[in-house]
This record gives sequence, structure tokens and C-alpha cells, in this order.
Amino acid sequence: MSKIPPEVIERVKKLREEIEYHNYRYYVLNSPVISDAEYDALMRELKELEEKYPELITPDSPTQRVGFKPAEAFKEVPHAEPMLSLDDAMNEQEVIEFDKRIKRFLNLPEDLEIEYTVEPKIDGLAVELVYENGVFVVGSTRGDGYVGEDVTNNLKTIPSIPLRIKKFEPDAPDIPPRIDVRGEVFMTKEEFERLNQERIAKGELPFANPRNAAAGSLRQLDPSITAKRKLDIFCYGVGKVEGITFKTQWEVLQTLKKWGFKINPLAKLVKGIQEAIKYHHKIEEMRESLSYDIDGVVIKVNDLSLWEKLGTKARSPRYAIAYKFQPTQATTQLIDVVFQVGRTGAITPVAILKPVQIGGVTVERATLHNEDFIKNLDVRIGDWVLVQRAGDVIPQIVMPIKEKRTGNEKEIKFPTHCPICGTKLVKKPGEAIWRCPNTNCYASLIRKILHFASRNAMNIEGLGEKVARDLVDKGFVQNLADLFYLKTEDFMKLPGFAYKKAKNLYEAIQRAKKTTLARFLYALGIRHVGEAMAQLLAEKFKSLDKLMEASTADLMSIPGVGYEVAKSIVDYFRNEENRKMIQRMLDAGLTFEEEEVKPEEKKVDLSGKTFVFTGALKSMTRDQAKELVKRLGGRVTNSVSRNVDYVVVGENPGSKYQRAKALGIKMLSEEEFLKLVGKA
Ligand SMILES: [Zn+2]
Repeated sequence: MSKIPPEVIERVKKLREEIEYHNYRYYVLNSPVISDAEYDALMRELKELEEKYPELITPDSPTQRVGFKPAEAFKEVPHAEPMLSLDDAMNEQEVIEFDKRIKRFLNLPEDLEIEYTVEPKIDGLAVELVYENGVFVVGSTRGDGYVGEDVTNNLKTIPSIPLRIKKFEPDAPDIPPRIDVRGEVFMTKEEFERLNQERIAKGELPFANPRNAAAGSLRQLDPSITAKRKLDIFCYGVGKVEGITFKTQWEVLQTLKKWGFKINPLAKLVKGIQEAIKYHHKIEEMRESLSYDIDGVVIKVNDLSLWEKLGTKARSPRYAIAYKFQPTQATTQLIDVVFQVGRTGAITPVAILKPVQIGGVTVERATLHNEDFIKNLDVRIGDWVLVQRAGDVIPQIVMPIKEKRTGNEKEIKFPTHCPICGTKLVKKPGEAIWRCPNTNCYASLIRKILHFASRNAMNIEGLGEKVARDLVDKGFVQNLADLFYLKTEDFMKLPGFAYKKAKNLYEAIQRAKKTTLARFLYALGIRHVGEAMAQLLAEKFKSLDKLMEASTADLMSIPGVGYEVAKSIVDYFRNEENRKMIQRMLDAGLTFEEEEVKPEEKKVDLSGKTFVFTGALKSMTRDQAKELVKRLGGRVTNSVSRNVDYVVVGENPGSKYQRAKALGIKMLSEEEFLKLVGKA
């Protein structure tokens, strides 16, 4: 055995201390003081030294969080003190009753204000962590409250669980010879989403909520799987304790914090039950914004001497209660299923529900994930379903209520073709997700929406790229006509939309419904139909109906309309999907006004003049400028020659500028151009 140099022993000790400190800063306090790279370097150095001198490895070394072999089964661990479950209070009255009961039991005056600790009730999995002389030796699940399962190696993978207790603050009490710390292991909403997406992609059933996901991840026989799921913990109390006496629950929380345990930062000390009720309401309002799921508030008597006096009944203590929030589940009816197309072409079925209130929010849609999920659930259109809002913004269908079936329910038919572009859907072997193989499908829909909404088309203010993407991602828009059916409430479901912004966009769309035929034709994005062509068609046909029924020959009789253009227009209006879409727009109130006269444009006549554009314009895109010139009778070309009358020079002009200068062609600044076309 090699002799270990004393400076190595010293260095290893120092490294462990440093790493544990940075762990604590990062995972417990959420305020790291070094970069990830610097942390990794410390960890690497420790690993290397431990590899060189394996005798130095101790169970509480930070390197020992991972790398355990899978277990055959979970060992049983009896809890030194039972882990009781709390009684629930569903409303204010029951909480007031809880407070009164305590005073009756203790013979205290009715108007006395008892001190309580209050903290969010994490929707996770209760565990117990046993520390002997400061070292984490065994960790277990709650089990039946008396005996749990040994999940020590899995718990070690959770970085916010200290492997060794330390006095992170100078006024922390000394580490006792034995202390059993209790906490709730949970999964953040974000990690829950990530994990579920991963499972869905693999064709596995997603977890119904973060609690199930946390429990499923912690109860893995193979700790390496647990390590991959980002679990976290909030510690909330102690079980068996030796060598230290706590006077209050608040003192317990504060001490745990000073020893390096993660305590919920929202925990609070309050006086009187009314304060606790106020706290409950405040936390319930914050519920959505928290990164983890909570289902209520835990109220505990602060004075631990009273705990003993109050004692327990059956399996729950008298000194604490869980004041629950409004339920996150409700039953409603499944009206229909729509299939939304994601940016990768993935098709996601979305349940359209009869609107139902869940926890103060109206739920109208729920995800059905994929075809396998629908089959496994055996859910049908018309079914009554149990719907849950948990962890994420998209509610889920937990199960159909088969007892309520009438026999009129219809099977959900998964589409064979893409709802956006009509391409036949494909599914890779081993995957659960059907995809549209048309790589252009999603992007082209976004482009169509943006073109439709653009200034010279339908001119819908506030409908930019981000909004277009969010609308498609949510399945709100699969076709341009869907835009006309969106309500203010729909926009409020988009990220970054509050009432006012949603209402503004809704109103912008309502205004856009009154437009001109020319604008509408241009907005449709028919191939070869630019602004000028749309204008021409509108002038000649004057009615959408007539244009829609026009033949290639009819169209080609118009000067300026060639075969290619005519065919493109006819093809577009012969397409059944396009006709349906236009009809839906008309049904939604699309109307055409008389052509708006642009007097300042009418006066300008650019016929016989040829333009070249170079560089970027500020007031319009280059295409818009070109369209404008054409509308006024001018010509636009791309190359500079002696035949060119004007070169319009924008910002950062290219080589055309040099050439125009050499040829002595008249050059216009953007301002001069605008003046010339009467737009200054
Ligand atoms: Zn498609």
C-alpha cells in the first residue's frame, strides 16, 4: 500500500469542503459563487486524487453521489419515529375549527393567538434522511409511516441533500450525534415537462403529474436512472433527534438551514389562525408562478412543547393540518379532438373539452400526447373525462369515466394526412409519434400567416413571427381562416399576453375582416400574385365569386396576365381546401369595401421609367418598393445599365451603386424616392 503524502490528505479534505460549499451555494441557496467550469475542475481534481489513493474514499465524499449498482429490491427501513400524515382542511371553516380544537384541548382562552409556522405543501414524496455524526447514512421513503423503503443511494444523487452536515453559518448549533431529517422530494415543472416529452417520444406513457414522476424516479432500483432525473428536496422537519433539543418548529427550520439543508424560502412564522389563512390565499395566488407543484399550505403549531401535549389521534397529529388548495382535477366532456402540427412536424392530438373550471382557470383543451396514449386510455369523443391541471400549463386527461358512457361515444380517428399540408403522415419504427414528412410544412404555415397579416396584405397589427409561432404551436391556427375565429381569451393563453394585449390583437383581426378585394387576393399568397397583380385582378373582376369561377382563358384575356399566372390562380381556386378556407373566412365576416383611393399615388405616373434598387430601405422592404413602382406604371430591373432611369440607394448599397456612379445614372436617396412616388 502506497504511503499517502500528508499534503494529499490535506488537499482532498480541502477539496471536499470546497465542493460541498459550492454545492450548497448552488443547489440550496441558489446563488453560486463560482462558474460551472471552476466547479467541474475541483470535482475532477478530487476524482483523480481518489482514483490514485482509493483508501481516501469515504461514503460522504462528493464523488460518491453516483455510481451505485442497481439493487435487487428495496430493503425495508423502520422509522425511528413514525412519519405521520396530516389531516386535510378543505376550507377556511375547517382551519378555524382546527385552531379552536387546539385551544379547547389545551384549555387556552378562545381569543389567544397561537403562533404557527406556515409553508407551502409540496406535491412530492416524503422521505427521511438519517445522519449519524453528521454523515448521511440511510434514507427512506415514508412507506406506511412506520416502515419505508431504503432509497439511500438514490437520495445521494440529489445534489441538494447534504452528504455531511456542516455549520454553514457561524451561529449554527453543533452537529448532533444523530438526527433524522424529513423532507419532500419533488420534481420541478420544467423537468417534469422534459421527462414526459422524452417518454412520449419513446412511446412510453407520460407521468400524470410531477408527484408521480418524482416517486417513480426515486423508487428506481438503478440509482443511475434517478441521477438523470433532476430531483430536488425541501426539508420541513425532524424525526428522532439525539443530543440537541429544539424549542420551536421555526427553530428546527432555521437550524436545518444553517446546517446546509434546503428549506422552502416561503416558510413563515405567523401569529393567529387568521394570519395563516391570509398566507394560504397569498400562496395560492403564487401557485402557478412557482417552479414546483404545491397543493396547499401546511400549518403547524410553533411551540414544540405543545406538540407533546396535543399528541396524535389515529395516524395524524393534532398540532398540524394541511390546508389544501382548490382541487386541480375536474370532470367534463370531451367534445372533439384536433390534431396540431409542431415545428418538427410532430402531430399532437389535443382534446377539445366542454369548458370547466379547475382551480380558478377555465380549461377547454387538454393534451392527448399521441396515438398510443389515446389507445391506452381508451378515450372516445363524447366521453366524460377526468381532467387534471398539474405542473404544466397544458391540462391532461387522466382517464375516461367509462361508467358514464351511453353508447354514443365515437372512436378517435388519427389522421392519415397532415392537417396543414395534406402530406401523408409517417411514423418511424419504435416511435410513438406520427410526423408530417414535409419539412416545409410548419415553416410555410408560419410564412403564410406572416404574409397574410403583413401591412400591405390584411394589415393585422401585433401579429408578428413570435405570435404566429405560438398560435401554431398551441394548435390554434392550422389554416388562415382560423385567425378569424380566435377570441380574446385564446390570445390570453399565449406567452406574454395579458388582457389588454390580447384584446388589441383580437380587435386588429376584427378590423382586418373589412378589407379590399385587392388586399385580400394579395394576402392569400397565391403564386405569381403580388400586390400589382392582385390590384389588377380586383379591378377587372370586382368580385371574389367571379374571380373564383374564372377560367384560364378568362384570365389570359387580361393584358398583363400570362399563362403561368392564370394557371396558378385557377389551380388555387379549384383546390377544395382553399375554397373551404375562403368560405370559412366569409362566414366569419370577411367583407370587401370599395377600393381605397390613394390620391397621392394616382397622380404619380412612372410609366416609361426604369428603377434599380440597392441597399436596404428604412420605410419599406425592397419588395414593397418594387411593387409600388410597378403599381405606378414603372419598371424595375436588377442590373444597372444605360437604360436605367433611377437607382434608389438605401443603406449599405452594393456594387450597383459604384456602377451607377460610373455610368452617371441619376441616384435617389430613400427620401428623394419617397418624394418622387408621392409618399414623402
Ligand atoms: Zn404538413
